Amino acid sequence: MAQLTKYPREAVADVLAATDIVEILGASLELKPSGAGRFVALCPFHAEKTPSFSVSRDRQMFYCFGCQKSGDALTFLREYEGLSFMEALQRLADRAGIQLPALTERDNREDYQRAQLVEFGKFTARFFAETLHNPLKGGKGRQYLKTRALKAETTKRFGLGYAADGWSNLVDAARAAAFKDGIVELSGLARRGDRGGLYDFFRDRLMFPIRNAGGNPVAFGGRDLGDGPAKYINSPESPVYKKGRVLYGLCEARDAMRREKRVLLVEGYFDLLRCFDEGIEHVVATCGTALTAEQAALIRRYVPEVVVVFDGDAAGVRAAMRGIGILTGAGLTVRALILPDGLDPDDYVKERGGEAFRQLVDEALDFVTFYVRANADRLHLIEGRTDVAKELFITLAGMQDTLRRDEYLKRTARELDLDEWRCAEEFRKFFREHDARPPAKEVTPESAPPVCPQERNFVVLLLHNGALLEKTKGALADVALEPGPLSEVLKALFQGDGADLARRIDTPAAEALYAAAASADIEQVPGNPEILVRENIARLKKKALRAEEARLLAAIREAERANDPDRLKTLLSKKADLNRRIETVAAM
Ligand SMILES: [Zn+2]
Repeated sequence: MAQLTKYPREAVADVLAATDIVEILGASLELKPSGAGRFVALCPFHAEKTPSFSVSRDRQMFYCFGCQKSGDALTFLREYEGLSFMEALQRLADRAGIQLPALTERDNREDYQRAQLVEFGKFTARFFAETLHNPLKGGKGRQYLKTRALKAETTKRFGLGYAADGWSNLVDAARAAAFKDGIVELSGLARRGDRGGLYDFFRDRLMFPIRNAGGNPVAFGGRDLGDGPAKYINSPESPVYKKGRVLYGLCEARDAMRREKRVLLVEGYFDLLRCFDEGIEHVVATCGTALTAEQAALIRRYVPEVVVVFDGDAAGVRAAMRGIGILTGAGLTVRALILPDGLDPDDYVKERGGEAFRQLVDEALDFVTFYVRANADRLHLIEGRTDVAKELFITLAGMQDTLRRDEYLKRTARELDLDEWRCAEEFRKFFREHDARPPAKEVTPESAPPVCPQERNFVVLLLHNGALLEKTKGALADVALEPGPLSEVLKALFQGDGADLARRIDTPAAEALYAAAASADIEQVPGNPEILVRENIARLKKKALRAEEARLLAAIREAERANDPDRLKTLLSKKADLNRRIETVAAM
């Protein structure tokens, strides 16, 4: 197993020896016996209709014949539940009743730091919760919470707290509890002022701990209770918190999601808390951040369907269409609804009750019908109808399942009163244009960038076929790849597959590409794999060589201007060499 931590090997072996993989996986998957000590299940890592995921009790390993994912109980917890290595190990150790030796800084600086940050997150959540219930300090928080009229068990379950007004409440408490200033600063919960002192990031705010998949509070959201300019702020990213990889409430919603086989996606903390208050527990919230492909892939692990609940107007819905595209791109069935009278889920459920809300959710429309009806005011002109169709094409183009896509395409034509055949024809034209060149949509930092289908298919092939990956690696070994999402993903792939692949990818565009590929199904990649890979290699080489050529030509002009014959000679010889390489690639 790829085990990138220096945690004592004996301790890891002890924990695994005391664990039965069948029990761990059986808690999440429907395992069916198949021969001595063997079990099969539908693979949780790729979409399939017949089981190709196999678990061996003797070897204490799992392997998928469909997507080749494999590993032990630790790998499973990390990949399936999104736990860190330490969290997964701790979970198994707790189950087995094994006391893990304390990690010291000498073992591994990074793991030690992460463990400290997790400890500090727990400490902070306790501290804020205690402040809220402190008779002297928590009055303002309690008073505000009263206006929200939530059940005490709900606020307790989500660990709501209060950050009192003042500059160093948390910092002082952290020092008293012997947390190092460096950890407190790294957590983002305190900042360093001009004079070098630490001060609290959250002041006079109602606090929502944001838990990761392992149930640990790794970040916080805070609602201002004074008259600050920002009503809600979130703690910044840290080594244990990447905002695009965490969804508020997922940890608490997981069991209900599996039961209901769908999830409701809402926007705010209180929207989610209100639903839980009414016993509707298959809900997650984005809380002010734009949905990412990684979050969509996270949802896809647990449920096949999402109901997106909007409280905005049609303009808000148009902006949110990107989020729907990300969800359908991850293979999720998406339905959507707008609550009546401009109400948000919190108000709606409070005013009309959980049953009325449940019914709305049950009647939610498929996203095509929903989108057309949300844009009703644009449909009286043919231009408006074709515009709405094109906006839907963007989402449809990202769908992996072509059968399903064709059905949605028909529905688009029907709902917009367009000719079915013409509509399909227009879509094919749109798809061809955008397949070669991803839509030049504005990419804001917090929105997930669009993924080029050609690049995605290429990565899907490499993820599923080790031989093709090796071939690509060899072919590109001496090529200086142009920076971009694809080259970043390729570099990570070339360093080796495994659970930590995603961690080697940094930029949002590359993350989106990887997540799209990782959640795609190999059967959905059209054409001959060998040819597709060859074409992509040639394309990458050409791109790299063209960039190299541009750089050389600029350098040659520079050398001519500077009248530097020696340098010019070297450059021209390089150019001749480059020309030969360009010819070779052109012949491929
Ligand atoms: Zn699989």
